[in-house]
This record gives sequence, C-alpha cells and structure tokens, in this order.
Amino acid sequence: MDQAPVIIIGTGLAGYSLAREFRKLDKDTPLLLISRDDAHSYSKPMLSTGFTKQKTADELSMGDPGKMAAQLNASIRNFTEVDAIDTHNKQLGIRGESLPYSKLVLATGAQVNRLSFPGSDLARVVSINDLMDYRAFRTALKPNQHVLIMGAGLIGCEYANDLMIGGHRVTIVDPAKTALNGLVPEPAGQALQQGLQDAGASMLMGRYVSSLQEDGTSLCASLDDGTEIHADMVISAVGIKPDLQLAEAAGLVCDRGIVTNRALETSAADVYALGDCAQVDGHVMLYVLPLMSCARALAKTLSGERTEVHYGVMPVVTKTPACPVVVLPPMGKPGQWHFEGEGTHIKGLYQDGETLNGFVLTGDYASEKQALSKQAASFH
Ligand SMILES: Cc1cc2nc3c(=O)[nH]c(=O)nc-3n(C[C@H](O)[C@H](O)[C@H](O)COP(=O)(O)OP(=O)(O)OC[C@H]3O[C@@H](n4cnc5c(N)ncnc54)[C@H](O)[C@@H]3O)c2cc1C
Repeated sequence: MDQAPVIIIGTGLAGYSLAREFRKLDKDTPLLLISRDDAHSYSKPMLSTGFTKQKTADELSMGDPGKMAAQLNASIRNFTEVDAIDTHNKQLGIRGESLPYSKLVLATGAQVNRLSFPGSDLARVVSINDLMDYRAFRTALKPNQHVLIMGAGLIGCEYANDLMIGGHRVTIVDPAKTALNGLVPEPAGQALQQGLQDAGASMLMGRYVSSLQEDGTSLCASLDDGTEIHADMVISAVGIKPDLQLAEAAGLVCDRGIVTNRALETSAADVYALGDCAQVDGHVMLYVLPLMSCARALAKTLSGERTEVHYGVMPVVTKTPACPVVVLPPMGKPGQWHFEGEGTHIKGLYQDGETLNGFVLTGDYASEKQALSKQAASFH
C-alpha cells in the first residue's frame, strides 16, 4: 500500500515555510498541501506595501502552485476546502472525498472580523487578508480615489500609509482613543497618528461608522456623531482571529486558537498546528517571526526528532514610513512604562527594575531596535 502523505492544510507563510523546512530534512516522504485559495506563494506583510514597493498583486506572487509543487517535491491542491477531519481514522474529508494522512498539520490562518451594520455588506466594503483579496482590491481601486479605512490597528495604518504613497486620499475611523490600541501604549499610538496626519490622512479617533449607503458614484458613511464621509471604497481592518471552525468540528481542543504545546502537538495524535491559527503554549501570535520558529521546530518533529519551539526577542515593526513604530510587547511580564521624546519621536521602555521586558520606539528612535532587542530579556 502507498504511504499516506504528510498533509499540510494551508499555503500561507506557515504552510509553505513548514514545507520548505521539512524538505531540507526529508526529501522523499510524500507531501500534500491543500488550500482553499489559489495557493500562490506570497508574503502577506507585503500586501500593505504594494504601492510603496511599486508592486502589483501579480508581482507579489512568488510562485504559482505548479512552481511550488516542483520546488517542494509535493502535490498541491488549490481551491480545495477541507471540510472534515477524522482524527481517529486519520482521514480528511473534502466534499465527500476521503484522504488518508500519516501526519496532519493545520496552518489554516486567521479570519478577518466583520462588522455588522446597515450597508456593511456593500460590494465596495472590503477586507484584504490574502493575495486574492488584494488583487480584487487593486483592480477595483482607481487612481486618486478616497479610501475610508475602518480600524487604526497595525493593518489599517499600514494600508493607510501605503495608499497615500500611491496617491490616494485616506480617512481612518476607529472607536479607540489612539492608533494601534492594544498593541502599543498611548504615547506611541499618538505619535503614529500624528505621523499619518502629517502625511495627509484624516484620523477620526473615538468614532465609528454606524451605516453606509451608496450615493451615486461614491459611498456615504455616517458616523456615530452624525458626521458624513464620502469615499470611493471602504477597507474594513477591524482585527483578525484564528480560524477554528475545522479544528473545533474535528474535536480538537481550542481556546483562542488551536491549542498546542511547544512541540506544536494538538490534542489529537499526529495532528499539529502552527501560524495564525495556533495557540502555542498559551500564546496566539499573529506575526511572521513566531511562525518561522515554529516551522523550523515542527519540520524536525515531522522528520522524526521531536522538537519544541523556542523564540528569541521578537519585536513587531509597522510598515508606516510616515512614522515607523517598533514594539516589543511585554506579554504579561511585570514592569512599568517610562517614556521620553515628543511628537512623532517617542521612546518607551518597559522595565522591571534593571530588566527590560518590553519597549516601543517611534520615528527616529526606531533605529534603536537592534540595540534594545539585544538588551531585552528573551521571551521563553
Ligand atoms: C496586511 C498585513 C500586513 C502584515 N504585516 C506583518 C508584518 O509586517 N510583520 C509580521 O510579523 N506580520 C504581519 N502580518 C501578519 C502575518 O502576515 C501573518 O501572521 C501570517 O501571514 C499568517 O500566515 P498563516 O500561514 O498562518 O495564515 P494565512 O496566510 O492566513 O494562511 C492560511 C491558509 O489556510 C488555508 N485554509 C484555511 N482553512 C482552510 C480549509 N478549511 N481548507 C483548505 N485550506 C484552508 C487558506 O486558504 C490559506 O492558504 C500582516 C498581516 C496582514 C494582513
């Protein structure tokens, strides 16, 4: 009987990084990647730098499934949604078809949060969370248009900066008091806000969109305070959360993400998870560096050497040239913030006595990233 393949569900950075790492260690075990999208390989962080780097959606693709299959000595099925996992019999379900696996990896990513209010489902209200979304957005967007962005988080602010570089007018609306709420402390959020404003953005903080309607060729957004904004397109960037549907239906233990230990093992034998969908040893980390570390560790495990993941210091960098922001979140560690600087240039250190447990740098201070990363206690 043919050997059942290792199957990876998902061809985002987590799925493809794992496949690459696995192939460095094991050239021959049958490998199958399955994706409900087009399975092009791309770097998701590049989606919010398309105008800055002058790349179209097609230019952001680093390989179609044919090229990736050849590179990875793997089979790749795109536009294929896995709809069931039978962990007892080690089989996947795809619209009635059963596929056996020897080991299974969930790299199913995160889904965008969607707001629900009158008009929130209009065609020109978009979320951009993969290359296909981005391609559709760039096709619909015409030169010099006005884009309303709901959400001043990392993704909303990055798209705002990039769109302005592309010659578009941008308005950001967010109910929070300052940008990057929840990721950085207020002084740093204010710095980014000021940087984006100086670059031309309208920042409407403490406000939210309560309805949207078509108004001739544009969209009219009504805010909670009665303000009306006319825009050509609306980007909804109100957060993402791990995609748990498939895992929960399969009976895998889930919390905020698919629960794994540091060896990326889920509650079912021979089933692993990594990337945006996973909650690794209690942490959901929706960033690239952690998933790269996980991919390296899991590749070893899949090749027969059970390996736990260990992270170094992993600062998050926003791609907002109007005011770069670097943050090493304290992740629940003890300490207090101390700030210096002003305007768009803010430096915050999160210290517990002599120990540096986090930092935030904006503007010119961003150049201190490496020096402070060295100082910061490693995240274990
Ligand atoms: C605009 C933007 C900018 C970002 N910038 C940064 C940055 O600067 N730095 C940083 O560290 N992070 C950044 N991030 C976050 C980072 O990109 C993500 O953490 C990372 O790409 C997640 O990769 P993933 O493979 O886990 O998930 P995804 O890329 O979401 O991949 C999930 C895959 O699973 C597939 N899938 C899901 N369910 C099924 C199913 N049932 N059947 C078949 N296939 C399925 C999907 O088709 C897809 O291929 C950014 C994110 C965005 C949106």
